[in-house]
Amino acid sequence: MNRKATLNQIGAHNRPWDVVVIGGGATGLGCAVDAASRGYSTLLLEQSDFAKATSSRSTKLSHGGVRYLQQGNIALVLEALKERGRMLHNAPHLVRRQSFVIPAYAAWEIPFYGIGLKIYDALSGKSSFGASRMLGKQTVRQMLPTAVQSLANSALSGGVEYFDGQFDDARYCVALAQTLHDQGGAALNYTRVLRLLKRNGVVSGVVAHDELNGTEFEVEAKVVLNATGIFTDEVRHLDEPQAAPIVTVSQGSHFVLPSSFLPGSHALMVPKTADGRVLFAIPWHGAVVVGTTDDEVPHAQMEPRPLAEETAFLKHHIGLYFGRLPKDEEVLSAWSGQRPLVRKQGAKGTAALSREHTVVVSPSRLVSVAGGKWTTYRRMAEDTVDIAAKLVGLPERSSATAALRLHGWSEAAAADGSADHALSIYGSDQVAIDALSAQHRELSERIHPRLPYTVAEVVWAARHEMAMTVDDVLARRTRALFLEARAAIEAASTVAAILARELGRNPGWEDEQVAGFRSLAKGYVFES
Ligand SMILES: Cc1cc2nc3c(=O)[nH]c(=O)nc-3n(C[C@H](O)[C@H](O)[C@H](O)COP(=O)(O)OP(=O)(O)OC[C@H]3O[C@@H](n4cnc5c(N)ncnc54)[C@H](O)[C@@H]3O)c2cc1C
Repeated sequence: MNRKATLNQIGAHNRPWDVVVIGGGATGLGCAVDAASRGYSTLLLEQSDFAKATSSRSTKLSHGGVRYLQQGNIALVLEALKERGRMLHNAPHLVRRQSFVIPAYAAWEIPFYGIGLKIYDALSGKSSFGASRMLGKQTVRQMLPTAVQSLANSALSGGVEYFDGQFDDARYCVALAQTLHDQGGAALNYTRVLRLLKRNGVVSGVVAHDELNGTEFEVEAKVVLNATGIFTDEVRHLDEPQAAPIVTVSQGSHFVLPSSFLPGSHALMVPKTADGRVLFAIPWHGAVVVGTTDDEVPHAQMEPRPLAEETAFLKHHIGLYFGRLPKDEEVLSAWSGQRPLVRKQGAKGTAALSREHTVVVSPSRLVSVAGGKWTTYRRMAEDTVDIAAKLVGLPERSSATAALRLHGWSEAAAADGSADHALSIYGSDQVAIDALSAQHRELSERIHPRLPYTVAEVVWAARHEMAMTVDDVLARRTRALFLEARAAIEAASTVAAILARELGRNPGWEDEQVAGFRSLAKGYVFES
């Protein structure tokens, strides 16, 4: 998957595409893979990098949603549990089973959560990730050792263990883009859709701007899908300037802490904090992700920053559950994302808004898909492509994605979800990256002493994963910025030099990239 080759592919496509998708997050990439794997010619355009917006900033849970079970939304939980199983089955290199422990502070909580989670187990049916069980006080202390000293655990009476999925969200998007490519489709990053083309009042394509070379071009399409998440209404307004908004934006933030805050392999799940939120602390790539929050915000932002009340909430709860407040430098990274939630009249607070999705067809046949969750991306895509294909009379073909193995699927990962090779996240591509590292000593060197990533991974990202900027490499091909922002800042010049060599850029470009990335990454460094 290479940008120059993709531009050539688009240039050589001299008839309308069956499907053009706007938006390269989970939803858009899911739609494009669904359409291409049905045999429709498919092009996806992303204004920035794949997963740059919400889809790289999630809590990284492939889950049915214990909270939605509490809310009584059984249909959503059932659907999401089915999709969780499919994600693991189709991308075992990116998704793994994770044990979660819910500590209980009153005797009634153990059977209450215990029975709830037995229902969760039952709903997952054949795609179970493991049976839940009720735990005694001592077992909880062994599983969550650091929590023993904490205030909250002084009244501990036991707990419940259950299982869900955890995954790497940005890498999953890269794998979807590669799968699209493998299926004969095309995905282009840094290409912004500026306008919609219309013929006789019907959407017939898009006018796009290549953000890297400054050119504008038109592509024709039988149907255009708007999968732009928090920007859904902006794109709908390109079609109908007066269209009523369908999306509400809610922000959530996370802190990443050293593993010493939660050693071991179990995650902590707090189903109800004092102010009624759900809180997770989850081991991820050798660190611990703590989050999240849910606050309605007035504007969609590409690079949202944690709000003061969010950082106060996270710090307070880390103190409560891990016995001590983190020092500034122990917050390795602080990042935020914004949820595209379907608007509902009269809903109180965004946490009460459904995570279900909606597909809206405009009078001029723009098909917009909004809402949902990462876990249900594939189902959202299937529904959207079903509607779009019927709308414009594409040959009737069923979705093939329920069992479609994603790029990188490997026998080894499928057999053992706990593969611990540093490159196992690449699945079957790992062999080629290992071979690249072996070519030259410099390629096997790390890009920074505190980061696990090598020069070979940067070269690979530039050659085969359409990484175009230092941010692409450090935030979404590797997860350095999300795991340790200060180290990512220090690694920027090394990465810029490798990219400049690979992409044929000049020293001025290198300096601009380093300065731009450092200024962006400062927002991930926590300073109280
Ligand atoms: C804090 C937080 C935690 C979450 N945790 C979980 C979780 O653990 N599990 C779970 O299942 N879900 C979770 N979610 C939900 C999940 O992350 C989202 O539902 C999902 O990522 C939305 O994907 P999307 O593709 O719709 O949007 P996005 O990822 O935002 O993609 C939309 C894309 O459209 C592009 N775009 C916009 N306008 C244009 C244009 N004019 N031209 C070209 N491209 C354009 C944008 O650049 C963007 O990349 C979480 C969400 C948040 C915010």
